[in-house]
Amino acid sequence: MINFCNLYSGSSGNCTYVASEETRILVDAGVSCNKIIKALDEIGVDIDEIDAIIISHEHIDHTRGLTTLCKKHHIPVYANRRTWNMIESLNVPDTCRLVFSTSQEFEIGDFTIYPFPIPHDAVEPCGFSLYSEGKKITITTDIGHITEGTLHQLECSDILLLEANYDTETLKCGPYPYQLKKRIMSDSGHLSNEEASKAISYLSKNNCQNIVLGHLSKENNFPELAYQTVMNEITQNGNICNLSVASRDFVDPMITL
Ligand SMILES: [Zn+2]
Ligand SMILES: [Zn+2]
Repeated sequence: MINFCNLYSGSSGNCTYVASEETRILVDAGVSCNKIIKALDEIGVDIDEIDAIIISHEHIDHTRGLTTLCKKHHIPVYANRRTWNMIESLNVPDTCRLVFSTSQEFEIGDFTIYPFPIPHDAVEPCGFSLYSEGKKITITTDIGHITEGTLHQLECSDILLLEANYDTETLKCGPYPYQLKKRIMSDSGHLSNEEASKAISYLSKNNCQNIVLGHLSKENNFPELAYQTVMNEITQNGNICNLSVASRDFVDPMITL
């Protein structure tokens, strides 16, 4: 049995729980240690039962809780070497630091994890596919655009968490400074609802049946708008999938496979 639960999602902090019968993993730790403990408590998991944390990239909305989590709870943290160099100031104890190489599989308990490169304005950002018990869970947020290779990597995910960061019109008309808008919309920024919907329309007919939209912008998106934009594209193409939107500050219902 595989359990997946979005604990936090968005620019204020990201943390996702993925577990098999034997192994419990957090993908990113972008909110405080206390908030992570509280969210895990809601799903009946003790922080000391977490086997490892894997880090997608160095931005603070993915790493905020690391220092306290490691100092107090000694949880092993996996990141690639360049990301570790970028988060040196977080002073994660040496005993908790583990290194993976992007594009090389590694094991945590009964999970095999494949970190794949994604375009984003961080030093070496990754998405992750986690495999266990014959299932594939893929988590990829903070992705400026979707390449052919990435799309292929997302295929056949039993659960996919994909970014739908902004609605283009809302962003363009919104209060952000021009340079920031440009950064978000660039190929190494974030993914729009429209871009996500095109990818998901393809993926929903390529064996992705549970898709969660995540990392929504608070200022430049609305959960209903993201959902409708993607759902319209899926149904127009005659496809179906279980689509949901990850909450920013609330623990979402567990998805169990
Ligand atoms: Zn982020
Ligand atoms: Zn980021």
